[in-house]
Amino acid sequence: MRVAVVGVQGDVEEHVVITRKALENLGIDGEVQAVRKSGVVSKSDAVIIPGGESTTISKLIWRDGIASEILELAKSGHPIMGTCAGLIVISKYGDEQVRKTGTKLLGLLDARIRRNAFGRQRESFEALLDIDEIGRYNAIFIRAPVIEEVGEGVRILARFEDRIVAAREKNILGLSFHPELTDDTRIHEYFLDMV
Ligand code: GLN
Repeated sequence: MRVAVVGVQGDVEEHVVITRKALENLGIDGEVQAVRKSGVVSKSDAVIIPGGESTTISKLIWRDGIASEILELAKSGHPIMGTCAGLIVISKYGDEQVRKTGTKLLGLLDARIRRNAFGRQRESFEALLDIDEIGRYNAIFIRAPVIEEVGEGVRILARFEDRIVAAREKNILGLSFHPELTDDTRIHEYFLDMV
């Protein structure tokens, strides 16, 4: 199995490391690669878009032809996971900040997101979540977005204080938090099971 981690900006290496660990735990023979140019995603079985700065990630993936490859791969049913800034990038609708910055979204997850939804007082924090199909999970939030509204085909997997922080639409998985910053591999294993 080939897993591509979009590596133009953000916490890329952490995703590469934990995805390798998850593959190992599942006993799957696989390869994980950070992607900075076109031509790699189209040969992959799954794609992860990490946290970072959504404006920057969006700009670079559209400029470098990575975005269109992700869209193609998603269309053929391959799983795509967006975490934090990655969640923003995979979503269909943004907020005022997304509009103002002219951030172009991939539109894969039928959801409307709000950037930096927890405000300045709570830039980063940890919280125990009950994630559907995964269970009790300690999540790390860093200037996190939330999902404000989802379309019919989207399954809500977790909420935090009544706000949606994890959702799935068929082969598309979006998380507000950072599963790559823990030692807990369950989210990545769940994602790899979608392949
Ligand atoms: N606040 C960032 C954004 O809106 C996301 C933060 C993150 O990925 N840790 O792009």
